[in-house]
Amino acid sequence: MNLCILGSTGSIGVSTLDVVRRLNSLTPGFCSVHALVAGRNAALLASQIAEFRPQVAIVETEQVLAHLTDRLAELGLPRSLWPELAWRAEARVSAAISTEVDTVISAIVGVEGLQATYEAVRAGKKIGLANKEVLVASGRLVMTAARERGVELIPVDSEHNGAHQCLRGNRRNEVLRLILTASGGPFRNTPAEEFASITPEQALNHPTWKMGRRITIDSATLMNKGFEVIEACWLFDLSPDEVDVLVHPSSSVHALVEYCDGSVVAQISTTDMKMPIQYALTYPDRLSAPVPRMDWSQARVMEFYPPEPRKFPLLRMAYEAQKAGGSAACTLNAADEVAVEAFLDNRISFPGIWEVVDETLQRVPSRTASSVEEILEIDGESRRVAREMVAKRGGARATGADALMTSGNAVG
Ligand code: NDP
Repeated sequence: MNLCILGSTGSIGVSTLDVVRRLNSLTPGFCSVHALVAGRNAALLASQIAEFRPQVAIVETEQVLAHLTDRLAELGLPRSLWPELAWRAEARVSAAISTEVDTVISAIVGVEGLQATYEAVRAGKKIGLANKEVLVASGRLVMTAARERGVELIPVDSEHNGAHQCLRGNRRNEVLRLILTASGGPFRNTPAEEFASITPEQALNHPTWKMGRRITIDSATLMNKGFEVIEACWLFDLSPDEVDVLVHPSSSVHALVEYCDGSVVAQISTTDMKMPIQYALTYPDRLSAPVPRMDWSQARVMEFYPPEPRKFPLLRMAYEAQKAGGSAACTLNAADEVAVEAFLDNRISFPGIWEVVDETLQRVPSRTASSVEEILEIDGESRRVAREMVAKRGGARATGADALMTSGNAVG
């Protein structure tokens, strides 16, 4: 297997390299890393280059590239062993579609990862998909290309990976619905009246998963679950009405698929991303994985309950965006990213995140995009509007969650 890892320095990228290291220790040469693509973390990328010796390494800017060469020199890696170094989005695309690559792990955060992933699909590469923004922003284009090229996207996200496992070997026309579970985030028991005083530090403290900053905040608002609903619709060809969400605080059941005869197939495992990453790498084979096992000798209570869309309006907005079609989900994602950044910088409150998203969705008209360039244009326009909505708040931490909370309706 010859890999290109988009986002090698992130949480998923680092776990992917852990999996690669272990697979190679069991079977030398099992995975070779052709390209490592990162953003700004030159120090970590340099140490990954020294260990995995890719042919190509790519960063976000020329300045980071300069840091990277300094770090490689400090590590004492002889120049003859340095990979080809590059920066810019075009270099990411070239790495992902290189004839030497057969498998691409898409784990850049945000739409920055879209172009390279889309071109990799068009080039017929096997894709391990972690970057959920790829399908949220551009589901129709990416899935059309995947169908045309006969490419299967193997989901890395634990819920979709679980769904992929529940659906394996069964017939699509026998599926009644998919249920994605949600941990409920750190605020599932926090009264909505207290949301306005939530700090970024509290929101970054996820109860079950250690992840990047954006997805951690998105988990706290349930936006992440909304994105997962949209992603599931594209991956498994389901309508939003066929995808439900259940809060399951222990996060050991990742997905459930209900079949037409009333039988429900669930995927259960401990919370360790190395399992779904390895599954995506080795699919259709299963290999032993170094993850903690479920201890079935212990008494166990598995709790499930419906989410509260009135408390977490972004989940409802995701359903509405997917039903609306066009570019609404692209705008939803762009506005959320801007709003999350503003919240992390203490420029808006926690409820301010969904207020900004809602106002942006109302201002940016939805349209059907026929190219990635068009998607990126809509993304840019949505970000501009979202920044205006943040600026309108003048840095004050807004508190008015009430209007949105009363307009919530049923989910799924
Ligand atoms: P992180 O924030 O930990 O990592 C993001 C990665 O993207 C880093 O390698 C970062 O590089 C890179 N990156 C960011 N911007 C650019 C850019 N402009 N050019 C090139 N690289 C860039 O995120 P996660 O690993 O947590 O998540 C990655 C994706 O996977 C997200 O879409 C997330 O929603 C999804 N996901 C994550 C899960 C998890 O458990 N973490 C679970 C399921 C899905 P650098 O650090 O060098 O700047």
